[in-house]
This record gives sequence, C-alpha cells and structure tokens, in this order.
Amino acid sequence: MAEVFNWQLGREMQYPFQAERPQRQIAWVFDTNKCIACQTCTVACKSTWTSGTGQEYMLWNNVETKPYGFFPQGWDVQLLDRLGVVQWDGQTYEGQTVFESAPTGERVNGWLPMAEDWAHPNVGEDEPAGAVERGTYIDRLPHDTWFSYLARICNHCTYPACVAACPRQAIYKRPEDGIVLVDQARCRGYQECVAACPYKKVMYNNETRVSEKCIACFPKIEQGYQPQCVTTCIGRIRIASFISKPDEVDPKKPIDFLVKVRKVALPLYPQAGTEPNVYYIPPIHAPREYLHQMFGPGVDEAVETYQNIKNDPELLGLMMLFGSTERIMHSFSVEGEIATGFDEQGEELVSVPLREPTFIREFFDDVHQAYLHNIT
Ligand code: SF4
Ligand code: SF4
Repeated sequence: MAEVFNWQLGREMQYPFQAERPQRQIAWVFDTNKCIACQTCTVACKSTWTSGTGQEYMLWNNVETKPYGFFPQGWDVQLLDRLGVVQWDGQTYEGQTVFESAPTGERVNGWLPMAEDWAHPNVGEDEPAGAVERGTYIDRLPHDTWFSYLARICNHCTYPACVAACPRQAIYKRPEDGIVLVDQARCRGYQECVAACPYKKVMYNNETRVSEKCIACFPKIEQGYQPQCVTTCIGRIRIASFISKPDEVDPKKPIDFLVKVRKVALPLYPQAGTEPNVYYIPPIHAPREYLHQMFGPGVDEAVETYQNIKNDPELLGLMMLFGSTERIMHSFSVEGEIATGFDEQGEELVSVPLREPTFIREFFDDVHQAYLHNIT
C-alpha cells in the first residue's frame, strides 16, 4: 500500500500498488458543449482496433447521453452508490475513494457488469427530448428537462484501479507517456481489472479469454500524432497532448492551460481517486448539482470561465486550435487575431484565425452568368 498525492482530491490517499508518476503523462480535454453525438469517434476507434472476434460488443470509445445513457448499463450510478454522497471541503475531497472504501481483503471497491449490461450501448439516447414530445413520463422527472453528451475513453489514470487490482501484474502504465496497457501474454482473464475500473473501460474478450482496453492509439502517439478519436472528431471537441506534473505548470502547454491555468476542464468523477487524465469542459446548461457530483468542486468556476470566452482571446484561440492538426500540439500562442500551435521542437504546426473571415459575393456572378443563392 503506497501513500500518494492525488492533486484532484487535494490530499494524500492510499493506493494499493507501488507506483510513481510517469516521466510524462498523455492527457485529453473534451468540450462537452460541442459534442453532437455523431459517434464518428466511436466508429473510428471500432474500425481501427476492435473489429476482431470476441470484440463485437466492445466500444473502447463510446458517447452516451446523460443522464440516462450508460455503457455498460448503470456504470456511474453503481460508482456513486458505492462511494455515497460526495463530500468536498473546498478543493479537498473528504469522502473515500474506490481504494479506501474497498471491502476487507479486496484492493478496490468495484463490481463486475453482466453480459447484458454491455448489450445496448446507446440506451437513453436523447431520452428527455423524446419523452417531452411524446408527453410520456415527463411528470416523473425529478429535474428540468435536459440532456448532454458524454464522450468516454479510458482515462489512462495516474493511479489506475485496473493496475492495482490485477493479481498477475498484467496491466502496466508506461513510464514514457503514462499510457495504460494490458500485457495479453500475462493476462489469465480473471477480470479483476474489469470489476475494479470505476469507469468500466476494461473489457473482457470471451474468445481470446483475456482483457482488452483502449491503448490510446500508442503507435500514433509514438510518432507524434493524436489518437484516432481526436483527429476524426466532427465537432472538434477534443485535444490530446501532455500534462505537466502537479507542481510544474507551463501555461504554454495546451492541457496545462485548460486544466490548471484557466481551470475550464475538469476530471470525471475525481472522487473515484484514480486521478483520470481525460478532462471535460462541463455542459453549461446541465443542472449544477448534477455537474458538481460529476466533475467536483471546480464546476462553477469552469462554467463561468467558459461563458466568458469571448473576452478571453487566449482561451478562445486555443479552443479554435482544437481539431486543427493531426499532430500533437506541445505548445501554443495567441497573437492578435491568430492562434498558433507548435510541435515539440517549437516548429509551427498550424495557425488559425480567432474569428472565421466572412466573404460576401455579388448576388449575380458575371463569369458564370448565374444568380447565387448563398453569397456568404
Ligand atoms: S466525433 Fe466528436 S462530435 Fe462526434 S460524437 Fe465523437 S466526440 Fe462527439
Ligand atoms: S479508466 Fe479504468 S481502465 Fe483506464 S486506466 Fe483508469 S482504471 Fe484503468
């Protein structure tokens, strides 16, 4: 059992595995406000990594409609039920993590989904909207009608529950980039990792009888490219790059800027205690109580910062750089009306205007002797 510092909880915690932070950590930011649930990311991931036998049900990337959508069924309801009412004192978590609340003799407070829990990944899609139109159980909703989309992948956690739970040490966290991988030669299919992961992002292959999970597209990351789910995203809601250690903040790094400087992106269910490395800009229209439960005590500041983005050229510029290049952007700058992203050597990768220029064409095109319907 190691005593480790979890910066998302603002305190030390017990972690049942000897672990130290990687030399550097890959991390993501997803802007939930821009996701349209087109599932392009889901299909891109599926066709790249999980088209084999026994992988039919697997979605290493999925997008669910909150509050009713889950993959697998009820994953976060189970988590919240196990951890109890969330308790924060300012930025410090006062409740117990999945490690600290583990039953006697176990390393993690987890649960194993049943096969049918994985069978319907998009149950609850756009549920409140449909319910309103049909006039069905709307009276019984305990809150205003709303929904939002939550795109999910493995969080490549700093303190992974899957790693801690594996009795054969078949799951490991790479020191060079923090990616969490299953060594399939060592795995014996005990599924302790599946039960332990609070986000349910390890999946069991019934054909090969080993566990599998998101690999963060590590062959791309090793070559300096962002993962498939990021580069194919239609809504340009995603960015992947490296986050600094808690005591080393570099405002030129995109993830540091969003997570630690502007604090507009927050970890998902930080109370689980795994220090997840996918950060979310919360959906600004969702009920605040729901968001506090989901993203912790930074929600109010994050929503306010996001709503003020038009007065914050640096944040606006960085958001415009989302989805603008397939390469990993290690740093960025905003000068005047132009935002620029740079690679690890400081070479320019891409530059974009803060505001899309507008061109107005003549209603009548002399060259083609035609009237134009769309002139902007
Ligand atoms: S591709 Fe992007 S916009 Fe479409 S569902 Fe995935 S995260 Fe959302
Ligand atoms: S999200 Fe789950 S599978 Fe991924 S590293 Fe964290 S505990 Fe492991």
